[in-house]
Amino acid sequence: MSDKYLKFANSFVGKQIAPKLGLPQPPVLKRYVPGQKAVDGAVLVGAADGGRLAPAIAAVLKSAEAEVWTAEGPLRDAAGAVDLTPKIYSAETAGDQRFQALVFDATGIAHPDELKALRAFFQPVARKLRPSGRLIVLGTPPESLTAGGRVSQRALEGFTRSAGKELGKGATSNLVYVAEGAEDQLESTLRFFLSPKSAFVSGQVVRIGVGAPPTATPELDWDKPLAGKVALVTGASRGIGEAIAETLARDGAHVVGLDIEPLAADLKKVTDRIGGSAITLDVTAEDAPDQLAKQLKNDHGGVDVVVHNAGITRDKRLANMKPETWDQVIAVNLIAPDRITLALLKGKVLNRGGRIIGVSSIAGIAGNNGQTNYATSKAGVIGLIDAFSADVAAAGGTINAVAPGFIETQMTAQVPFGIREAGRRLSSLGQGGLPVDVAETIAWYASPGSGAVNGNVVRVCGQGLIGA
Ligand code: NAP
Repeated sequence: MSDKYLKFANSFVGKQIAPKLGLPQPPVLKRYVPGQKAVDGAVLVGAADGGRLAPAIAAVLKSAEAEVWTAEGPLRDAAGAVDLTPKIYSAETAGDQRFQALVFDATGIAHPDELKALRAFFQPVARKLRPSGRLIVLGTPPESLTAGGRVSQRALEGFTRSAGKELGKGATSNLVYVAEGAEDQLESTLRFFLSPKSAFVSGQVVRIGVGAPPTATPELDWDKPLAGKVALVTGASRGIGEAIAETLARDGAHVVGLDIEPLAADLKKVTDRIGGSAITLDVTAEDAPDQLAKQLKNDHGGVDVVVHNAGITRDKRLANMKPETWDQVIAVNLIAPDRITLALLKGKVLNRGGRIIGVSSIAGIAGNNGQTNYATSKAGVIGLIDAFSADVAAAGGTINAVAPGFIETQMTAQVPFGIREAGRRLSSLGQGGLPVDVAETIAWYASPGSGAVNGNVVRVCGQGLIGA
């Protein structure tokens, strides 16, 4: 399904007419093109006094070969040596300079009065962010702190979410909490949020912990982070699943696509195109978890990445909900991922450092009219992440979920016109996302560099108002 209004609003005629009629002007979002640098443009870095992340930020920006600006002088490594010599920012030196990203280390903020450092850094440069730019605030998980630190770090959420609603022109705003001791685990996440791969992720809060062992290595090939890995994607024959399969294959994985028998031909087209393998199986079949575990072990020696994408909707208002309508949705969306995860863990089919990724939905966070069954199943997926995160971490892996908002697929093409338009426009980015936006977020979780990203649920929704 394509968004015809988005195309019109960005045409020569549309650009003249839309503002005059007071119509929405959704921007064309910049998306990742293979081979592109992680940050395509200058990055302005700032920090509140006492922040602890400057060396980690400098290391990432150096590795990403970014053009760095700061008002603070040279950025130093953990040993205090100069690691990166940025351009020095001041109102005079910057002139007409525009920034692709504004990155602020807020970890030093220990009292609400010090939150003014946010305004002091961002206010003068808020208009200097390029279209599809990035605002990123880095903090400390509030739950690890007490008193003023806890209060202030929690307050960062309100700032980043509001900024996301104000920025416009396709720019995004996100908050990353980095646990103390996890500074060297920042790279995969900061690269993702700086890059066009996070085009449709805004207003989100992500936690980088210390629970999982450090799996990021300096040798990680950021263009092919999944080289040598095997990735299972359920529901891979079309829509979001197809995009996930393609994106994980682009990142170097051998993808095992799974779908039901009637979609075998479509599935084969996808897996042939990306050099993967196909399994036709109904994930709700009684013996599906065992069969899948056996096949992954025998044919591939195990699995490194599991994406529980297969999902269905069977919408009915509660008063009209038949038992089978309820059961089908819970069976595909929740019971199957639960049973398969258990079987892969028990049978040690998930390799060490493995990644499990659930596909929830904003309906599972906010609820939705006519979707008590679907929203229950998708909230359950979030429960599944919580329930398994300790066990998966103990096996050296991670488990996380994405919660897509309005994504342009066959599923949303069936939504009535008025609701579809509301779903698209009532968001900070003024449009629906593309399947690739969900896939890129999953690829970030799947990366070997994301070993400390565990138990997160990130909405891929363009900061949609529905579900906010
Ligand atoms: P889709 O186009 O319907 O694709 C889902 C795939 O899963 C289909 O190929 C489907 O086959 C397959 N599947 C269904 N039941 C299965 C079973 N028992 N065993 C194996 N495969 C099965 O849906 P989509 O829009 O890409 O959505 C993908 C995921 O994202 C779903 O979990 C969905 O709930 C979630 N999501 C989507 C959106 C959105 O805006 N599109 C928003 C939030 C969340 P069938 O032909 O049988 O259906």
